[in-house]
Amino acid sequence: MSEPYDNGSFWFASLDELTPPEPPEELPPQVDVAIIGAGFTGLWTAYYLNKAKPDLNVAVFEANSVGFGASGRNGGWCMGWAMGIDEMIQKPKTIEKGMAVARAMEETVDEIGRVCQGENIDCHFAKGGTLTVATRPFEVERMQAKVAERHKAGFSEEDFVWLDEAESKRRLNMTPNFGAVYTPHCASIHPARLVRGLGNVVRKKGVKIFEQTAVTSYGHGKIDTVRGQVSAPVVLRATEGYTESIKGHEREMLPVYSMMVATEPLPNSVWNEIGLRNRETFGDNRRTTIYGQRTLDNRFAFGGRGGYYFGSERKAVIPPDDPSLDFVEQTLRDLFPILAGYRVTDRWGGLMGAPRHWRPSVVFDKQTGTGSAGGYTGEGVGASNLAARILVDLVLENQTPITELAWVNDVARRWEPEPIRWIGTKAIRWLGEHADRVEVRSGKPSKVWGGLFDRFFG
Ligand SMILES: Cc1cc2nc3c(=O)[nH]c(=O)nc-3n(C[C@H](O)[C@H](O)[C@H](O)COP(=O)(O)OP(=O)(O)OC[C@H]3O[C@@H](n4cnc5c(N)ncnc54)[C@H](O)[C@@H]3O)c2cc1C
Repeated sequence: MSEPYDNGSFWFASLDELTPPEPPEELPPQVDVAIIGAGFTGLWTAYYLNKAKPDLNVAVFEANSVGFGASGRNGGWCMGWAMGIDEMIQKPKTIEKGMAVARAMEETVDEIGRVCQGENIDCHFAKGGTLTVATRPFEVERMQAKVAERHKAGFSEEDFVWLDEAESKRRLNMTPNFGAVYTPHCASIHPARLVRGLGNVVRKKGVKIFEQTAVTSYGHGKIDTVRGQVSAPVVLRATEGYTESIKGHEREMLPVYSMMVATEPLPNSVWNEIGLRNRETFGDNRRTTIYGQRTLDNRFAFGGRGGYYFGSERKAVIPPDDPSLDFVEQTLRDLFPILAGYRVTDRWGGLMGAPRHWRPSVVFDKQTGTGSAGGYTGEGVGASNLAARILVDLVLENQTPITELAWVNDVARRWEPEPIRWIGTKAIRWLGEHADRVEVRSGKPSKVWGGLFDRFFG
């Protein structure tokens, strides 16, 4: 098996070099800002803090290695969208707030592209947009209505457009494919190259990253780590799905798993059949989310939502023979029968964080100097950049348009204790899977099971 600092993903395996964590340096007695977690959120926060105030002494404390968590093992969809936007634009009272977040997220995709170019982070960024395919005939009407709803809220044809079956198949020859919604606001990236590249960039700018230094608790003016205490007037937590590892933060974030597979590089003849010529990302409309991208080296990287383990168990690495990965691989093969005869070479998974209200939040308390950003529920590649910029503005007391966004201080209540949490998540998952199965079998919308799923999950 791989080294303990290897998260087991294809992305880590395909880095030019996967260096072991730096030998832990002695901890400084004091820093100006202590950031907990070296994923996208923590590193973007360090990046923008350093950019605004290069003299600030910023340090990042990471339990394992840079990008070990979700940031170094995800689907690489850098989306101009985030959880909670749909909910806001459906209600007249919150349309404006929803549109403001959506527009800020669209700009975020370009911001990430710009920084990568400016800082020479070669993360295979390709803004090809994303396709959400209708895989059941009755979805066509539903999805067209969704596009109309978005246009009514203020989006244009440039933002979301319905592609008929022929055009959709021309872009992505997936089976079945009855049409698709296309949006250009998404880029495909190599997530480990982005997170590790960002780590190197901030290090060069003077930010210290202390790997293998888990934070056990923190509070006003200090953090406690497995290697000692550090004083810091500002402490920012960026631990997403791992938040429960810190004392006092139990039940704030549900660790939910997502599972991925990657194929061997596929020949041009196969890609000529499949499409994705602009490296568009893609998914479909089922409740148990799927997501895919064509990597720069012509593999399929494809994933689906996994589950939740009793008591919020956090598995550091998902072994490639985990049975839930069979389902993800089979789903990919069902959608693309042309893959028969081609190997899936990598299988892995990881955990992401879901807050009780299922949408991101950014918090900073001036009195205690503590703050946090996260709660992306599987949609954090782009959102972590916006959240980090908001957090930096809050810390530096800059009033900007992004500090007015709905994410600010939108704190969720805690999750229910066990076994209610486990029963609830199992029930929602079962409803989603069952409704999907009924719809495939009958070719009709599942009013009962789907209705219940929508009621509980939205
Ligand atoms: C398989 C998978 C696929 C996904 N696909 C997509 C996608 O395609 N698009 C998308 O937008 N989102 C996707 N996501 C979600 C996305 O990856 C996350 O939302 C995002 O990476 C969160 O970044 P983060 O920095 O907040 O958290 P993480 O990247 O999880 O970083 C948290 C860091 O904190 C460290 N840590 C934990 N506890 C402590 C502690 N006590 N002390 C110090 N450090 C600690 C961890 O080791 C970790 O490195 C996916 C997630 C998974 C797991």
